[in-house]
Amino acid sequence: MTDFLSTGTLPEHYRDLALTVRDFANQVVAPVAAKHDAEHSFPYEVVAGMAKMGLFGLPFPEEYGGMGGDYFALCLALEELGKVDQSVAITLEAGVSLGAMPIYRFGDEKQKQEWLPRLASGRNLGAFGLTEPGAGSDAGGTRTTAVEDGDSWVINGSKQFITNSGTDITALVTVTAVTGQTGDRKEISTILVPTDTPGFTAEPAYNKVGWNASDTHPLTFDDVRVPKENLLGERGRGYANFLRILDEGRIAIAALSVGAAQGCVDECVRYAGEREAFGKTIGSNQAIAFKIARMEARAHTARTAYYDAAALMLAGKPFKKQASIAKLVASEAAMDNARDATQIFGGYGFMNEYPVARHYRDSKILEIGEGTTEVQLMLIGRELGL
Ligand SMILES: Cc1cc2nc3c(=O)[nH]c(=O)nc-3n(C[C@H](O)[C@H](O)[C@H](O)COP(=O)(O)OP(=O)(O)OC[C@H]3O[C@@H](n4cnc5c(N)ncnc54)[C@H](O)[C@@H]3O)c2cc1C
Repeated sequence: MTDFLSTGTLPEHYRDLALTVRDFANQVVAPVAAKHDAEHSFPYEVVAGMAKMGLFGLPFPEEYGGMGGDYFALCLALEELGKVDQSVAITLEAGVSLGAMPIYRFGDEKQKQEWLPRLASGRNLGAFGLTEPGAGSDAGGTRTTAVEDGDSWVINGSKQFITNSGTDITALVTVTAVTGQTGDRKEISTILVPTDTPGFTAEPAYNKVGWNASDTHPLTFDDVRVPKENLLGERGRGYANFLRILDEGRIAIAALSVGAAQGCVDECVRYAGEREAFGKTIGSNQAIAFKIARMEARAHTARTAYYDAAALMLAGKPFKKQASIAKLVASEAAMDNARDATQIFGGYGFMNEYPVARHYRDSKILEIGEGTTEVQLMLIGRELGL
């Protein structure tokens, strides 16, 4: 079996973490993945297990209830989880990089003390509400408003496709809202909205093509009143701040995608070595072996791309272009590998309970969420001065 970690290029503490998460993924996540997918049920028991391992606190300092690790550690965990269940991986990705990270990056001390221990422990989940019915790729098109009224912000509007926003343990949704206008320039700010605030509603969950065990809802805000101190970061910096969050998030989505791409390789190596046709294993046909070799090359190339982006980010160097490249190539690797794996599994590949079938349905969103393929190309082009 191919195994990048066994090459020994990673420092020991990273390798140990990845191997621990790999065991958890194989022993706890994989056995229930098909069931939660079929039932469209949120895997509370798996999330509780990840919380116990400290995965929701991986990149946060211990003073905020975190594990004192870094963003690359989170990526390694996402890759391992993404191999066996993308729904579980995206629940962790969104909980950490979209739910908690904005508070760690932009919150004041009081906000950090109030929210990070709850989110880093995995006791509660946070969500990030940016996308709206009329504002996705063009996130600056936000129409949700937050108006000052005495000591409060009063929020009205709606968000759509928001991950982790309606579970029993979701405590907070951070939203972007228009807080003012100068000429035709919108002032966009970010505000913390506890989910028990009157007027906040997580509407019924979507019926999705994939990521069935992850939690995704439209949200409505009807005169939602929160204290003024719930402003996250500077007023008017909401747009710039969420761009930073999305840049990082792209490395995390790339890691999850590499997991999916590698998961397809691993399934195919096993299956092609066992399945027989015309008196020999299908893997002994070069047509199949070449297909799997190409899948491995895609996964490996995408992995080096996200390692590179993460290394730049951790070194405090510019990483925008590398994050977009990693997200672009990794999401395409996942989708291409899922398509090839389904072909290699033949009719079984079209049966929902098979992991490759789940990857086939799950992987498409990797090319859409946290910036579509076209948006990544736009960003890479901009970095090249085009
Ligand atoms: C399961 C799921 C979970 C999600 N979770 C979250 C979440 O937690 N928080 C959140 O805020 N959002 C979330 N999203 C939203 C996601 O980030 C958006 O769907 C995505 O950014 C695309 O926006 P859109 O759907 O409005 O598509 P559009 O922006 O309407 O794009 C439609 C198509 O047009 C293309 N396009 C747009 N502009 C251009 C251009 N200038 N040049 C070329 N092509 C262009 C796009 O690439 C795309 O192919 C989630 C979505 C899904 C499906």
